Amino acid sequence: MAYLATPYKTAEIVKKYNFAFRKKFGQNFLINAQVLEDILDSAGVSEEDTVLEIGPGIGTMTQYLAERAGKVIAVEIDRSLLPILADTLSDYDNVKVINEDILKLDIEKLVNEENGGKPIKVVANLPYYITTSIIMALLEKPVPLKSITIMVQKEVAERMQTGPGSKDYGALSLAVQYYADPVIVREVSPDCFMPSPAVTSTVIRLDRYTEPPVKPENPAYMFRLIRASFNHRRKTLVNGLSSEPSLGLSKERVYEALEKMELRTDIRGEKLTLEEYAKLSDLLR
Ligand code: SAM
Repeated sequence: MAYLATPYKTAEIVKKYNFAFRKKFGQNFLINAQVLEDILDSAGVSEEDTVLEIGPGIGTMTQYLAERAGKVIAVEIDRSLLPILADTLSDYDNVKVINEDILKLDIEKLVNEENGGKPIKVVANLPYYITTSIIMALLEKPVPLKSITIMVQKEVAERMQTGPGSKDYGALSLAVQYYADPVIVREVSPDCFMPSPAVTSTVIRLDRYTEPPVKPENPAYMFRLIRASFNHRRKTLVNGLSSEPSLGLSKERVYEALEKMELRTDIRGEKLTLEEYAKLSDLLR
């Protein structure tokens, strides 16, 4: 089977199987070989790696992964793609296709079964409608993984990488940066996909930390504070946190904590670094 990463070959497969693209599954297939090379190079996929691919589509990236990795596990929700994948991946005996919704799958269990619990790499051109849920499911749960190399919307990649003061800074930035070091790999224009998405895309790699960069006594509490402060983005931190009933914090307590940290008492949550959230969390608990 020839490589699929060209407009001609992809159109041929779509026609052969009378495949109808489903918008609701975020189906935009890659048709540019250079983009695939760049993703694989950045992920540093080698024979020693077991790779989890989320959403193989017609198998365009899966073919590349199968040639370089020891083993590929590809999880695809759309049942109508299964006969196509059986055809396009027939030359490879190191690929396992699983017909499942990635958000319903116990990924930790999968890694234990398929890779003896050893860390895997995730490489994917993600369905954009569930990007954040997928990233958080991979990072928050104790899934053994080395890195996540993914295609996402450009804006989402920027949100993952940015720091305090930027309009893109938010709960996603802090969550990603607590678990991993985000590295932007490259931008990808809409014409590299079939059909073309309405947005520009970015490939980003998240290298998982073995130790988090900050160590609050209770990380879950720190994330509750982070979520609460970005839920009230326009308010000062004092007003935002004290107006969140589930936290049970008075204005005075937040005020005192900020004073102890030598921060302005009218500061907004979007100005705090991860280190400052960790400190605040220990002071407020
Ligand atoms: N990897 C292919 C490529 O690069 O050409 C396809 C990428 S396409 C952007 C996203 C793929 O994810 C589609 O094949 C879609 O059917 C699949 N998908 C969407 N939602 C999913 C889910 N919840 N679980 C698993 N796969 C999903």
